[in-house]
Amino acid sequence: MDETPMRARAVVDLAALRDNVRALRAAAPTAELMTVVKADGYGHGALPCARAAREAGASWLGTATPEEALALRAAGDTGRLMCWLWTPGDPWREAIEADIDVSASGLWALREAVTAARAAGRTARLQLKADTGLGRSGCQPADWPELVAEARAAEAEGTVRVTGVWSHFACADEPGHPSIEAQLTTFREMAGHAERAGLRPEVRHMANSPATLTLPESHFDLVRTGIATYGISPSPEVGLPADFGLRPVMTLSARLASVKRVPGGHGVSYGHRYVTPGETTLALVPVGYADGIPRHASGTGPVLVAGKWRTVAGTVAMDQFVVDLGGDSAEEGEEAVLFGPGDRGEPTVEDWARAVGTIAYEIVTRVGSRVPRVYVGH
Ligand SMILES: *Cc1c(COP(=O)(O)O)cnc(C)c1O
Repeated sequence: MDETPMRARAVVDLAALRDNVRALRAAAPTAELMTVVKADGYGHGALPCARAAREAGASWLGTATPEEALALRAAGDTGRLMCWLWTPGDPWREAIEADIDVSASGLWALREAVTAARAAGRTARLQLKADTGLGRSGCQPADWPELVAEARAAEAEGTVRVTGVWSHFACADEPGHPSIEAQLTTFREMAGHAERAGLRPEVRHMANSPATLTLPESHFDLVRTGIATYGISPSPEVGLPADFGLRPVMTLSARLASVKRVPGGHGVSYGHRYVTPGETTLALVPVGYADGIPRHASGTGPVLVAGKWRTVAGTVAMDQFVVDLGGDSAEEGEEAVLFGPGDRGEPTVEDWARAVGTIAYEIVTRVGSRVPRVYVGH
């Protein structure tokens, strides 16, 4: 590991990421694997994570926005690549020219893709998204025949090739939730309709990480795994990362900026929400909400300092927070580990999610751009 002193760092273990990708391929042996690297690879860095995922056999990559997908192409990625979050006026033509699979949830999007494909003189690789119950993007079952028919007509004209039919789960992170079976049934019907209408998609896909890990019947031709790639469990109901042979990829740490004795009754941080119960040692951890440490971690967030878990004392500020070491001591420059794989007794990202009342996805995705990512395990 690079031991250059730094205020804070997020060490990203690419060997762990590759192992996770292999574990996910093994969990869905009959399907291809798409590694989702949206939101800067869930905060881990999209490009290094994308490269590592390809090395470990991810035949597809996925992003939310076209800009994220185009950035991967600009960095030299040449494999199958899909993005799904489209807004009118987006760079359809650039995406089509870059051989990115675009996605349409409705006629407006199909028409923008067709127009861009004509302008480019290319056939767009287009996937149709079905709303099987999530109620977010995707085409409603009632509108599906019209979308499918117009896509088929565009295929006949040569402007579009429908490469995929896909959908997304609402509650796959709650195994056994009744919506899961209902969505699968609707998806089978909508995919079946598309085939009867003459579409021949290369891939039908629905599964995110929790469905990939818990629901083989959802795997179809391709699974789209995001959070599990980074060694993080989708939810406590699904289990722990280790249950699936997954290992956390990111370790977030900072170096103590101050350690000092203070008397009892001393207020700590904004609002004096913490007051020292007696004479004690306070340590200053130089990361705050601008670095992605939730302000809701005030008084609750766990940190490993000087060999023990401590709790954020008082309010998380923009750039720093305090922990009370009690009768223990530490040195300035010593490492405070906010979360990691847990090997050294440090909290995990799941521990942070529980302490803050959110999901682990949000904790890693929010780690700020001011925290350098340090890559190991190349
Ligand atoms: C983010 C996302 C995924 C990945 O979900 P995870 O739960 O992180 O595996 C898959 N598909 C779509 C459409 C997404 O937006």
